[in-house]
Amino acid sequence: MTERIFLSRAHVTDVEEKYVLEALRSGWVAPLGPMVDRFEREIADRCGVEGALALSSGTAALHLALLDSGAGPGTVVVLPSMTFAASANAVAYTGAEPVFVDSLDDANLDVDLLIDTVGTLQAEGRTVAAVMTVDLFGRCCDYTSLGDRLVALGVPLIEDAAEALGATHAGRPAGSFGRAAALSFNGNKIMTTSGGGMLVSNDGDLLERARYLSTQARQPAPWYEHTEVGYNYRMSNILAALGIGQLERLDEMIARRREIRDRYAVALDHLDGVTFLGRDQGGDAGDNHWLTCITLDPERIAADPSTVMAALDAAGIEARHLWKPMHLQPLYATARAVTTGTAERLFETGVTLPSGSELTDAQIERVLSTLVPLLEGRTG
Ligand SMILES: *Cc1c(COP(=O)(O)O)cnc(C)c1O
Repeated sequence: MTERIFLSRAHVTDVEEKYVLEALRSGWVAPLGPMVDRFEREIADRCGVEGALALSSGTAALHLALLDSGAGPGTVVVLPSMTFAASANAVAYTGAEPVFVDSLDDANLDVDLLIDTVGTLQAEGRTVAAVMTVDLFGRCCDYTSLGDRLVALGVPLIEDAAEALGATHAGRPAGSFGRAAALSFNGNKIMTTSGGGMLVSNDGDLLERARYLSTQARQPAPWYEHTEVGYNYRMSNILAALGIGQLERLDEMIARRREIRDRYAVALDHLDGVTFLGRDQGGDAGDNHWLTCITLDPERIAADPSTVMAALDAAGIEARHLWKPMHLQPLYATARAVTTGTAERLFETGVTLPSGSELTDAQIERVLSTLVPLLEGRTG
């Protein structure tokens, strides 16, 4: 039996093993410890920000950032429709109302539409507690175009950089654009702590308050004293050790993912109806290449995404649709959405290809040997 090829698998080596073993042997097994402090410092440096708070997930980081911005019942948070449900769910946790905005052709947020939408909401008398940008599939959204337009509207920016650690925009690292940003170390992300996340920010007070809320909002008293609802959101010392090892290898893993995308691009170059998200829109420079996403022009490519995925699956290869837009999800069907049809079209025509840094050249050739004839219309 040939081994199944996965979309984006955790990629660990003896580097991670060494740190995890060190953490175990140090006796710092119980929740926090020196590996957590070190991991926070190293991630803050990597993101070019003052501080970081290691958490149990990226969703927890988004939740705490939103709470800090005052998101809650009676307020709205504006975010892209094309994203993973976690972005919108974090808004729902606070009781704020999500308002969704469409994407541009590279799948990232339509910044002009976002600004228009915030203006419209404010003109209606709504309180926009925050805007959440999402750096999709490893690419920062267009912060140059965003500039200080949100500042002018008095709305704080929270950056969902869960998919974008190691990416840059105009030379600035993902994670440094908002008043706070969330990173994810879930199992399929560019680097992993098996499960985990980080809140990063230049605002020490914000991080301090998030730290307090993330440990059940315990008051400084000799007993367990509580005046408000807190959360159990911290990362353990063992998992931080895994993260330190992964971070040491992050650039190597990004380089391998880039190599894989370049191989796909060369092999599919002769097919006019295939577009590489980011790469074909000039956005490749600061990309961390987390996932390679292509769209198939139905006028020029006979196979549609579902056919392609079914054929790949039959060959033991995992491929996926792009994120299904939030305004098309049953959960958010009644939420307000400002759409142009772009996210919906990307969802209907997009395929995400196996992109993990652990994939061998032979495995990529195996993907291509099924994919290329299908897209050329020779089979399927
Ligand atoms: C993965 C992801 C998250 C959530 O991160 P978890 O660590 O899984 O909670 C949030 N937003 C986006 C865009 C993601 O891809």
